[in-house]
Amino acid sequence: MHHLDPALQPLYEQVLQRNPGETEFHQAVLEVLDSLGTVVRKHPGYADARVIARVCEPERQIIFRVPWVDDQGRIEINRGFRVEFNSALGPYKGGLRFHPSVLLGTVKFLGFEQIFKNALTGLPIGGGKGGSDFDPKGRSEMEVMRFCQSFMTELYRHIGEYTDVPAGDIGVGGREIGYLFGQYKRITNRYESAVLTGKGLGWGGSQVRREATGYGLVYFVEEMLHSKGGSFDGQRVVVSGSGNVAIYAIEKVHQLGGTVVACSDSSGYVVDERGIDLELLKDVKEVRRARISEYAQERGAQYVAGGSIWDVPCKVALPCATQNELDDDGALALVKNGCVAVGEGANMPATPEAVRILREAGVLFAPGKAANAGGVATSALEMQQNASRDSWTFEHTEERLAEIMRGIHERCAATAEEYDVPGNYVLGANASAFVQVADAMIAQGVI
Ligand code: GLU
Repeated sequence: MHHLDPALQPLYEQVLQRNPGETEFHQAVLEVLDSLGTVVRKHPGYADARVIARVCEPERQIIFRVPWVDDQGRIEINRGFRVEFNSALGPYKGGLRFHPSVLLGTVKFLGFEQIFKNALTGLPIGGGKGGSDFDPKGRSEMEVMRFCQSFMTELYRHIGEYTDVPAGDIGVGGREIGYLFGQYKRITNRYESAVLTGKGLGWGGSQVRREATGYGLVYFVEEMLHSKGGSFDGQRVVVSGSGNVAIYAIEKVHQLGGTVVACSDSSGYVVDERGIDLELLKDVKEVRRARISEYAQERGAQYVAGGSIWDVPCKVALPCATQNELDDDGALALVKNGCVAVGEGANMPATPEAVRILREAGVLFAPGKAANAGGVATSALEMQQNASRDSWTFEHTEERLAEIMRGIHERCAATAEEYDVPGNYVLGANASAFVQVADAMIAQGVI
C-alpha cells in the first residue's frame, strides 16, 4: 500500500519495530518519510548523514507518576509524559495535552509533528510535547489545581526558559497554565516567565496567544484560497470541534465574511444555518465548560447526536477537534458536496486515506504542521516579550502573526514548486521544514 522510497523503507521498518503499538507515531513518521523520498533523491547527503534516522528518535523521553488526592479523599494515579524530541533550532517547545486517551505514542506523534511545525514558523524553537492521561472532564477546580501541582512537582526539573518550554493543548488552557506556573515558581523560587507560554495577560502572557491557532489557521487558508482567486467572503464553512482552536477559527472566518454553519464536540454536532453565535458558544464552552448540546438548545439550532459533521455541505472545512477525526467517508462526503479547501486546525485530523481522496479530487489541503503553526508561533512571540520584559499591543502582535502565516504559506508553496509538485502543501511543509532542521543537525555534529 505504501510506496516509500527504497532508501527510506528500512528506516520506516525500524521505526515500527522499535516503537511497537504506537500507531499515531507510525502514521506521523510515515507521512513525513513519504515526502522525504523526493528530498533524498535530490540531496542524497541527508541519507548519508543518517539525519532522517536521527530525527525519528527523540532526544529524551520522560515518563512519570502523577499521584494526587480527589475531593473525596481518594488517591488517584495518572501518568505524565514529556518527550523532548529535537533541539536543533532552539529549546524544546510544544504543548501539554490532558486527555484520557493520551499514551506515549500520542505524545511522540505530537512531538514529532511539532519539530517541523516549529521550524516552519521561522522562529528559534525546537520540538517537544507532553501531557497526561488525566481527564479534566467533571473535575472540580481544586482537583484540577492539585493535579497540575503534582504534575509540575516532577516536570519542573526537566524544563526551563533555555531547555524546554511547555504550553497548552487539548485539556490545558489558561487555567491550567496558571496552576502549573504557580507551582514551578514556588518550587524553583524563580519568576522565570518564559518557562511556560499561554500565561494570563496580566502576568507575562501575550496578546493574541489565545486566538492565535484559530486565527492563524484562517489566515493560512485565506492565502491558499487567494492563490486560486477565492476568499472566505460569502462562503459556507464547517469547523469541527468547539475548543480553543475551533472558537477562534470561527471568529476569524466571520470577520472575513464567511459563515460557519456547524461545529461539534465529542458527543455530536450543531447545525446553525444563521451562523454560529460566538458569544453564546464562548459562554457555553469557555465559561460554563458545558456540552455543545446546551448551545443548540439555547440557540434553537439543530443538534445531531453522534453522526459525522462532514455530512454538512460546505465550501471550506476546518477540522479543529483531534487526530484522525476526518476519515475516508468524511472526505468523500466533503468532495461530493463541493468542498474546495480543507485546513487542519487540529494536529493530524485527516487520515492518510482522507488526504489522498481530497488531493485526488483537487481539493486544496493545508496540513496542520503548516496551517496550525500560528499558536506555537505566538508562543515564541510570548517568549520574545518575556525575554525583553516587554509587552506588545494586540494590533502589533496580530500583525506579526499574520505576517508569519503568510510567510509559512509562501514557504510551503515555493518548496512544492521547487520539487515540481505545485499546490502540494504537504510535501512543501515537510520538505522545507526537514531541510532546515537537518542542516542545523548536521552543522551541530553527531550529537
Ligand atoms: N499545542 C499547540 C500546538 O499543537 C501549541 C504549542 C505551543 O504553543 O507551544 O502547536
